[in-house]
Amino acid sequence: MADILAGEIERQSTGLQLVAAENFTSPAVLAVLGSPLANKYAEGYPGARHHGGCEIVDVAERTAAARAQRLFSASHANVQPHSGSSAVLATYAALLRPGDTVLAMGLPFGGHLTHGSPANFSGRWFDFVGYGVDPDTGLLDYAQVLALARARRPKAIVCGSISYPRHIDYAAFRDIADDVGAYLIADAAHPIGLVAGDAAPSPVPYADVVCATTHKVLRGPRGGMVLCGTELAERIDRAVFPFAQGGAQMHAIAAKAVAFGEAATPAFRGYAHQVVANARALAKALTAEGMVITTGGTDTHLLTADPTPLGSDAGTARGRLAAVAIVLDTCALPHGATRGLRLGTAAVTTQGMREPEMALIAALIGAVLRGECDVRQARAEVRELAAAHPPYPGGGEPA
Ligand SMILES: *Cc1c(COP(=O)(O)O)cnc(C)c1O
Repeated sequence: MADILAGEIERQSTGLQLVAAENFTSPAVLAVLGSPLANKYAEGYPGARHHGGCEIVDVAERTAAARAQRLFSASHANVQPHSGSSAVLATYAALLRPGDTVLAMGLPFGGHLTHGSPANFSGRWFDFVGYGVDPDTGLLDYAQVLALARARRPKAIVCGSISYPRHIDYAAFRDIADDVGAYLIADAAHPIGLVAGDAAPSPVPYADVVCATTHKVLRGPRGGMVLCGTELAERIDRAVFPFAQGGAQMHAIAAKAVAFGEAATPAFRGYAHQVVANARALAKALTAEGMVITTGGTDTHLLTADPTPLGSDAGTARGRLAAVAIVLDTCALPHGATRGLRLGTAAVTTQGMREPEMALIAALIGAVLRGECDVRQARAEVRELAAAHPPYPGGGEPA
């Protein structure tokens, strides 16, 4: 395992991590995650646990919830979900009964597995109806969402995606939900970190429930959370524990408190805005290389692109880029059959890269995909760029 740790640290710090869901947490977050808080059993909630000895970890959970409430101006925060998927499961459990109809973005357009995949609990237990995007513009088609809502009368509408690069109009979704008397659930797993840094609109004033992850742009430990108003607080809490989960992971909850504290700083605000500026710069530079960017650009930390004009399909492109340690995902594209590439700037921005580095990365991607440069040469250039921007400059010791 020591060799594996060393190998993974080497991989993360010598390549370019463009997986849109990833980031580099701070040394303080890592320190709390790897602390003896991991030893504590804590079923239940602060002040009402099923185990003794929870006085100290209760403070950690209260702190995490209070910081989340302040950061997102939410009346209630449940910080126990082990993951984004657990947060969604608990939200459905709080609001729905098996067999209920739910309207969410279809998986071929960027819906998450928890938005009705037949391989997931959501698709087995609920009747999901999928909305799409306009095939020409790649933009959400709110008129289509309203028409589907009126035709199918869902109990809940889910907005949120794994690959939609533009801001979501939460007020428009609220109007549609009100029109048909449905709950509005925002699955803000991806943009919640931008919301924390004031670089994207917040779903909190509009959605009945907001589910999110804490490990994407938000830069905390792997985990989830649920935000809601006071009316739904008790139902959400009971849905997280004891319905969906057992003992709370106190090391992760304490690490969430650290991340929320970090996200409330002016430095994080600057970070979130730079993440978006970098994604825009990357989209522009990849367009100049010949890629077709869905919706023509991005408002967020991620973009999706069709690489076929450069001579590779998405799967081949991902493999060729992996060979030079440029790491990214393939994803569905709105106009149907072909798959595309999904790139995000959260991790490279944490490393301190800015617009000039985005131009270099796009040029490297273009050269690799067109077969214009030798793999060894490109790998060396990636290594050099990463070495100039180490993710843990002080070697990873907490500040
Ligand atoms: C990432 C993501 C999730 C799930 O998060 P996990 O922590 O991987 O379970 C749920 N919904 C959306 C929209 C996501 O992007």
